[in-house]
Amino acid sequence: MQHYRGIKLLNSVDMSSLKHSQAVDKLCDRLEKTGYVLIGAYHSSSKKIKGKCNNGHEIMITPNNFVNKETKCKHCFYLNRHANLVREFESIVKRHKLTQQEPFNFRKGVLQGLKEKYLFTCPYGKDHWLSPYKLVTAVLFQCYCGKCKTLGGKSK
Ligand SMILES: [Zn+2]
Ligand SMILES: [Zn+2]
Repeated sequence: MQHYRGIKLLNSVDMSSLKHSQAVDKLCDRLEKTGYVLIGAYHSSSKKIKGKCNNGHEIMITPNNFVNKETKCKHCFYLNRHANLVREFESIVKRHKLTQQEPFNFRKGVLQGLKEKYLFTCPYGKDHWLSPYKLVTAVLFQCYCGKCKTLGGKSK
């Protein structure tokens, strides 16, 4: 096993070849920039290697794609997406002064949990069963209790 800039390389990787050493250098640059680390050893620029993202998720890294397409950790991507969805939903809830009557249930996973419907009430007591996912991605919320409407609920 060879070691180079903090990563392991298989002995078969010929670092005297400019092509290989450049590819490895680019990989190391990108690792340093992103904070990702390799767990497995490097075979070639197209072979997947086990690694970890900067948030500690285990992922498979394909050096070529990681360097050229700047591929990122899928887990982080989805977590981010879900966090954004929740944030957006919360801003709608706030804007319409809704009260959440039950906590989100993420036991079946975050996305599944966000697709479920939960009970909310408007300031005048009207019930609304809302799916955070749907509300953010597909539906424009409006309470029709007759009183909320006068608040001009469509402020965007
Ligand atoms: Zn991650
Ligand atoms: Zn209302």
